[in-house]
Amino acid sequence: MATRDEVLRELGLAPVWRLRRSPWKAPAPLTARQDDAPPARVATDDSPGSDAAARRARIAALAFDALVDDIASCRACALCATRNRTVPGAGAAGAHWMFVGEAPGADEDAQGEPFVGAAGQLLDNMLAALGLARGGVFIANVLKCRPPGNRTPEPLEVAACRPYLDRQIELVGPSLIVALGKSAACALLDIEASVASLRHRVHRYRGTPLVVTYHPAYLLRTPLDKARAWDDLLFARRTLRELASGA
Ligand code: URA
Repeated sequence: MATRDEVLRELGLAPVWRLRRSPWKAPAPLTARQDDAPPARVATDDSPGSDAAARRARIAALAFDALVDDIASCRACALCATRNRTVPGAGAAGAHWMFVGEAPGADEDAQGEPFVGAAGQLLDNMLAALGLARGGVFIANVLKCRPPGNRTPEPLEVAACRPYLDRQIELVGPSLIVALGKSAACALLDIEASVASLRHRVHRYRGTPLVVTYHPAYLLRTPLDKARAWDDLLFARRTLRELASGA
């Protein structure tokens, strides 16, 4: 087991390498801003026969590429008016590990790729500490568009984007989901709880094991919790190994 110093070096002070290539291409920047037309009203009624149910069923049938295209033209909530690019996610279909964050920030909104800013560099280091390459995992967010000023996603935005995340998880078929931070954990588990109360337990998202750890942006502000995050990642790796061995 690595020492605490080694862990902190791995997670914070020694950027290792970057692997940005992804089978999921970032959508092209918008030529005409999508805010020319008003966003559709968010359909919240998910009962059978409702618009929301029809949209969910349509998205649930999309293949990878079609899902990226659908996200790029999505107008289901007001974030479409302020985004520059949609950020569908990146990584390998069939990846064992899937990491889910909250929402794109300014760098991601500019580049169309998840976790490419400072938090993304820390995530890269966390992956490298686990011996994982960015291209060998799948990285997504609860929201596919940046909330202005990086504010916390609104419940209606989470609800509108949810069919995309659900479909992504289905298509990737990960062995384990790692929820990065409270927004991702609460959205995926459909509960209201703190990260501290959710750590070190194996939860389930539609049958897929899910563990919770701190968001890299939080860790940048609170470096002393990096050791806790490392514990969480080791717990995640143990969980995955136990699942693979049928323990
Ligand atoms: N924070 C997130 O939750 N996701 C990103 O893609 C970037 C920062």
